[in-house]
Amino acid sequence: MFQNLSDKLQDVFKKLKGKGKLTEADIKEAMREVRIALLEADVNFQVVKDFVNKVREKSVGSEILESLTPGQHVIKIVRDELQALMGGIKSDIVLAKSPSTIMLVGLQGAGKTTMAAKLALKYKNRKPLLVAADIYRPAAIKQLEVLGQQLGAEVFKLGDKVSPVDICKAGLEHAKKNGFDLVIFDTAGRLHIDEQLMEELEGIKKSANPDEVLLVVDAMTGQDAVNVAKSFNERLDITGVILTKFDGDTRGGAALSIKAVTGKPIKLVGKGEKIEDLDVFHPDRMASRILG
Ligand code: GDP
Repeated sequence: MFQNLSDKLQDVFKKLKGKGKLTEADIKEAMREVRIALLEADVNFQVVKDFVNKVREKSVGSEILESLTPGQHVIKIVRDELQALMGGIKSDIVLAKSPSTIMLVGLQGAGKTTMAAKLALKYKNRKPLLVAADIYRPAAIKQLEVLGQQLGAEVFKLGDKVSPVDICKAGLEHAKKNGFDLVIFDTAGRLHIDEQLMEELEGIKKSANPDEVLLVVDAMTGQDAVNVAKSFNERLDITGVILTKFDGDTRGGAALSIKAVTGKPIKLVGKGEKIEDLDVFHPDRMASRILG
């Protein structure tokens, strides 16, 4: 993950550290290289532009250029700005109500159903109920049942003939009556965003009023993931993003762009197909990892 970006940035910084004293021209050249490295990592164009401008402004002050270790200072500025770009500090899942509710949304294949099970496992002590509201993808309900069985969580389903809004309503009622303290709605996706899907998701959100509306996106899809996040956020005012397939060879574009483009934080990452493969997203650790 991030290997190419990491290698490129380390090359830039090796040159800076080797110089001792730095001039504005050195910073300019280094920022040109940082810019290319970020663009090659598929980071959003505007995000790269703003990022490089910020780092350049902070780096050219006399305090930095005349310090004994200007290279180290510039690296620290890049590190801090990368962390800020990814949200600064980690963003927790907020489960305020009883029962609490999490609505998972996203395109087909992003990893929603798998994530529903991962969340149920993470919050096992809250007696989670998984609600099967993806009635369009063949086998989605069955897939959720298999996962539910594997982790010992109940799955609420009404088949594929009842509307997803009604399934979610009934699921929430079932949870209230039977002492479940967390309800996770696994909603439908499509291969592409369409109006009918958005209307359905808006309907579920309106009726269930979830604590969290989390968009699940595939980190491997780079700027497509960012565009998907932008569209879903505009319609659903999501509360956060979950990046899946973080175990793959992602270049980093989605992780580095989503917060800046949507204003919504990445809260969790999926890093494998197994239900244990779930991590909290830590912007500070991620920035350190990128800088090696
Ligand atoms: P949905 O259509 O959004 O519900 O997606 P699924 O949960 O069915 O996931 C689609 C595929 O991605 C499945 O083969 C999952 O096993 C796989 N998958 C989901 N999350 C991850 C992940 O974090 N890493 C990897 N490598 N594969 C994942």
